[in-house]
Amino acid sequence: MDYLPIFCQLQQKACLLVGAGEVAERKARLLLNAGAELTVNATAFSAQFEHWAENGDLTLVRGPFATNLLAEKWLVIAATDRVEVNALVYQTANQMRVFCNVVDDPKRASFIMPSIIDRSPIMVAVSSGGKAPVLARLLREKLEATLPQHLGKLAQIAGSLRQRVKQQFSLGSSRRRFWEALFNHDRLAQSLANHDKHQSEQHIERLFSQPLTQQGEVVLVGAGPGDAGLLTLKGLQQIQQADVVVYDRLVSDEIMNLVRRDAERIFVGKRAGHHCVPQDEINQILVQQAQQGKRVVRLKGGDPFIFGRGGEELETLALAGIPFSVVPGITAASGCSAYSGIPLTHRDHAQSVRLVTGHAKTEGCLDWDNLACGKQTLVFYMGLSQAGEIQRQLIDHGMAATMPVALVENGTTSRQKVVTGELSQLALLSQQVVSPSLIIVGSVVSLREKLNWFASLNQVNDAPDQTCQAGVRTLLP
Ligand code: SAH
Repeated sequence: MDYLPIFCQLQQKACLLVGAGEVAERKARLLLNAGAELTVNATAFSAQFEHWAENGDLTLVRGPFATNLLAEKWLVIAATDRVEVNALVYQTANQMRVFCNVVDDPKRASFIMPSIIDRSPIMVAVSSGGKAPVLARLLREKLEATLPQHLGKLAQIAGSLRQRVKQQFSLGSSRRRFWEALFNHDRLAQSLANHDKHQSEQHIERLFSQPLTQQGEVVLVGAGPGDAGLLTLKGLQQIQQADVVVYDRLVSDEIMNLVRRDAERIFVGKRAGHHCVPQDEINQILVQQAQQGKRVVRLKGGDPFIFGRGGEELETLALAGIPFSVVPGITAASGCSAYSGIPLTHRDHAQSVRLVTGHAKTEGCLDWDNLACGKQTLVFYMGLSQAGEIQRQLIDHGMAATMPVALVENGTTSRQKVVTGELSQLALLSQQVVSPSLIIVGSVVSLREKLNWFASLNQVNDAPDQTCQAGVRTLLP
């Protein structure tokens, strides 16, 4: 750690600012907001400084910097445009053991000022220790966007409720539940954002009067196809609040790294050489964990309601009377389509898109006549082992053998691999990829040549397709 982050209490503490230009003005504003008793030293002052002084907000000392200005000061900021003046301030401050920041010169400073996201009393400070200020700024922007404006008010309310919550909920776990319910209360957030004090108070009173359920609950969360950036904000919140996360093979390590550190993790996927945990057993795990009063997140690849057996799991929970909710995810078809540059619909190519299982529960339940119709895109999930059958059925039912097809393996991840060719080669192509892979059939596949943006970002695996002798396009290793 190059710097120790601390938050200084500056209320009524004497501080010095040397310089009175635009940058100094920004620093002055921060120090004044923090309640500092501010002296500003410069040879000339901007109108804003004169105005502050007239208002009695700060004291101006006109003239060159003098050592005695540092007497009795807690900290000083040097913000003049003259390097030698800033250096002198730093040197003197160091001798006098006064913390000193030199604007834009982290090497000559005993403290640096981070980028801040101010949701007082919540404060987030970001710093790269002067090494990558642009990165720190980008991070700050991201945090600005994700942290709602009402957060400060919410924290203030929480502060005022602490005593009452302590009295009403003796158990630590019920207190945690109360706070989580308060902080995740969508309607409360809305009324705070609308400055509706009356309604906010009503929501809070209701939280106190409703008995907080000791019963657990299950949240079915879609983790998206792999790239952790495709997890929804709501999904992220859920996995960070979970007591238990029940997950399977399709959930990427990147996403599992975002799960609350002390949450229990139960893997129910297939391990090499072993079978998956049977669905009945998974259902039972969810019921049992929730019955112990835990907040269970059932984390699934893609979207839980698209070939995710989410419906089946929820039916069991409904039967057992366990509360549940669902957070959708980006399904593999959307993810793979975007990251392989193959739009699923396009006015010139496809007016509809069909998500089809390659693993139909009962034989003969797919309507191949309909699937083989033109002007649509077919996306087969779990279709690898059935690629030969899909090829045969579509051609037998009238689809052109030259119809473009693509197979996307590990879509959206850095291991993404895409193989393209024609329908007549589907079985052959399927041998070049491994699970999890999607099969996309339709003339939209031809757009990949123009729209394949991810390959250029991800040179190693998803390199531009290569044409084989047989006309099969395959991938560079
Ligand atoms: N609920 C998931 C689908 C589960 S079925 C969703 O909405 O995406 C499992 C199948 O999904 C796999 O056999 C494969 O066909 C597809 N799949 C899931 N993730 C994938 C990925 N990253 N790349 C390619 N196919 C994927």
